[in-house]
Amino acid sequence: MLFKNIVGQKPQIAKLLDMVKEGRVPHALMFTGTEGCGNLPVALAFVQYLFCSNKQADDACGACASCLKVSKLIHPDLHFVFPIPISKQVRTSNDVLTDFRAIFLNTPYFTIKEWFDELGAENKQPLIPADEANSILKTLSYTSYEGGYKIMIIWQPERMNTTSANKLLKILEEPPEQTLFLLVSNHPEQLLTTIQSRVQLLPFYGIDSEDISRALINEFGCQAEEAKQVALLSDGNYREAQLMLQNIDGATTYLQNFRNFMLVALKFNGTPAVTTVEELAALGREKQKYFLQYALEIFRDCLMLNYGSADLVRHSGAEKEFISKFSKFIHQRNYERLCNEFNDSFYHIERNANPKILFMDLLLKTNELINMPA
Ligand SMILES: [Zn+2]
Repeated sequence: MLFKNIVGQKPQIAKLLDMVKEGRVPHALMFTGTEGCGNLPVALAFVQYLFCSNKQADDACGACASCLKVSKLIHPDLHFVFPIPISKQVRTSNDVLTDFRAIFLNTPYFTIKEWFDELGAENKQPLIPADEANSILKTLSYTSYEGGYKIMIIWQPERMNTTSANKLLKILEEPPEQTLFLLVSNHPEQLLTTIQSRVQLLPFYGIDSEDISRALINEFGCQAEEAKQVALLSDGNYREAQLMLQNIDGATTYLQNFRNFMLVALKFNGTPAVTTVEELAALGREKQKYFLQYALEIFRDCLMLNYGSADLVRHSGAEKEFISKFSKFIHQRNYERLCNEFNDSFYHIERNANPKILFMDLLLKTNELINMPA
């Protein structure tokens, strides 16, 4: 993983480069940030930079022997600890390291849920057990193979149980020489405060929607307008953006679905209503959720526009035009109720409600609400 392949997070990368340049890489760093922010890919890029034997000013060379090993996650001085589904066969991270390499190389922005799905362990609790802390000690007691740092990446340290967390704390208090710990956490607030105080924090934030949009165009070759829509909805989570985009089929964009739904809702009558509901029901749960999320965004922007504070700059041409026409139907009297209806529908879709009944009901309620005088 190279820094140049990371989506956004430029200030964080700059801080890491400065640490190396100024020779003040601490013995333990923690990258915090919500799912999809890319803190794990950045950790790997940082490791690659540290190990690279031909460092450039702002990135690893990508071609030296060390770079090649890190890029395949097989560098002998790089070790991993991550949550596992504990069983007789799986006692420590090493037992499923091959699977971990595979998912990272395939989808560097993967989530903990995807990791467990990959292992066929959907119903198990992701944990870092006490055995793991013993294994960390053992691993780090060997001298490094290549004579430099040993690096231990701990992904989701908040999944440690109390025993393993206390053992890790001991290790962090008396770190072995030439060892760097990189903790990569989605929920640092769930970690022992004593561990938090032993590491230098580097917080990551949601990725800028422009960076996401650019990355989507690069990765999927999609249209700028589509990338922009998805980037806005993804809320700084690149994994979410990738999944959304993979869920769109060329012909159906959110705007088209939404516009169609509202046209039918305005003048409700039988046949078009049934067709619309059937089309939405056929979309599948993920796309239905995006449809509802998208509607909530549009309602909010319509209301903002009506109160003169809209920032429609973030919308693309067709959307902007639609919002400026549609906004007259959204006002203080129906806004909150519309949001409640769409939020409720989202909640029920997530819990496997029957989509035909749900969307018909939503269509009827929307019909009533958007015809309400301001
Ligand atoms: Zn290199």
